[in-house]
Parts: sequence; C-alpha cells; structure tokens
Amino acid sequence: MKQKQEFAVIGLGRFGGSICEELGMEGMSVLAIDNDEERVNEFKNIASHAVIADSTDESALKEIGIKNIDHVIVAIGENIQASILTTVILTDLGIKRITVKAQNDYHEKILNKIGIDEVVHPEREMGKRIAHHVISNNIMDYIELSDDHSIVEVKVGRKMSGKTLDDLDIRAHYGCNVVAIKQGKEINVSPSAEEILKLEDILIVIGSDKDISRFEKNLV
Ligand code: ADP
Repeated sequence: MKQKQEFAVIGLGRFGGSICEELGMEGMSVLAIDNDEERVNEFKNIASHAVIADSTDESALKEIGIKNIDHVIVAIGENIQASILTTVILTDLGIKRITVKAQNDYHEKILNKIGIDEVVHPEREMGKRIAHHVISNNIMDYIELSDDHSIVEVKVGRKMSGKTLDDLDIRAHYGCNVVAIKQGKEINVSPSAEEILKLEDILIVIGSDKDISRFEKNLV
C-alpha cells in the first residue's frame, strides 16, 4: 500500500509555485511541472521532482508518470485554453483528484461543465476576504462556504465586549450562529450562552451572506 499521497502541480507561476513550496515544506511528495525551463529550474530544490513538459501533450504527461499521481493541481493562469485542455486530458487519464485554478467566471463555468469538483478562484476569494477586512479592521477572516454562505472571524470590539452571547442573541437578531470563540491560543468550540465576551476575543460566526452582512454592519 502507498504510504504518502503524491501531488503534482502543473504551472509554476505565483499561485502554483506557492502551492509547491507549501507542500514541500509540509514534507509532501510533489512533482512540479512547467513548460518553461527557467521556472522548472527554480523548483529543482523545492519539489521532489521538477520536470519540463507541455501539459497539453498527453504523451508527455504519460511519460512523466502522471497516472501515478493521486492529486493534480492545475495552476495555469493566463492561458485558459491550455488549462482546459490539460484538465480534459487529466480527466481522460483517470486522475482521481484534480483541482483547477479558474482565471475568470467563464473559465470556472467550463471547468464545472467538464465535471471538475474542485475549482478555485484565488483572486476572487482573496478579494472578498480583503473587502471584508477593509469594511472593518475587526473582521479577521472571511471564508466562503458556498455561493451564499460564509464563515467570518470577528474580533470582539466595544459593541460586544462585556456582554454574553445570551445578551447579544446573535442567532435571533441576525440568523447567524457563533460556532466557536478563540481566546488567545485557546479555542472553545461549544461556547455557553453565559460566556462573557472580552475585547480581542475572536468569534467564529457562520451564516448566510445576507445575515452575516447585517451582523457585520450592526455589531462589528
Ligand atoms: P500566476 O497568475 O499564478 O502567476 P501564470 O499564468 O503567470 O500564473 O503562470 C502559469 C504557469 O503555467 C507559467 O509558469 C507557465 O509557463 C505555465 N504554463 C502555461 N501553459 C503551460 C503548459 N501548456 N504546460 C505546462 N506549463 C504551462
């Protein structure tokens, strides 16, 4: 039985490159692929293997043993045609898990139509996170769960500090749920209604985007 998952990253730009570095630092086995020799050379010491190959060429992918890889991440940015073609080839080759970076909404739609479950849109996701952070410095993070539901990490400010979850009754007023409270390094995943919130505590709140937006406007 295989012990460790094998990953491959196709496209070593900023996005693919940082995935490669992170996987490498976590001790994972990563095959780094790009058709640009210079990019590949940069990753020789970071990835387990770094190879020059055009991922739109099926035989080239077969030759480098892509079929042995458990999870392939397609991180080709600008060249949408190459990204789609690569993805179709990987699907045809029966790769079990494929994650693809979408460049724009149309690209994402096509990838969904091809049947790719894991489509990521890092620019859009990061844009949303930053937008929420600039609305209020107390919004620490914003994670999209679906098209209309999210999780936010919110620092307790003056409007909430000294009050209990019962006093604030966030569920009744805003329809969102506080799923956990972080206090320094501690995390309480079943906060009681009597918990008194302190400045700098962090609430992890889940809800629909509409409800979260009302909560952010009124309490954060
Ligand atoms: P980012 O926005 O993440 O920096 P880029 O579009 O700059 O993305 O980088 C994508 C990478 O994908 C580049 O290094 C490019 O050489 C590589 N790439 C593009 N097409 C192919 C292909 N057909 N086969 C392999 N690598 C490719």
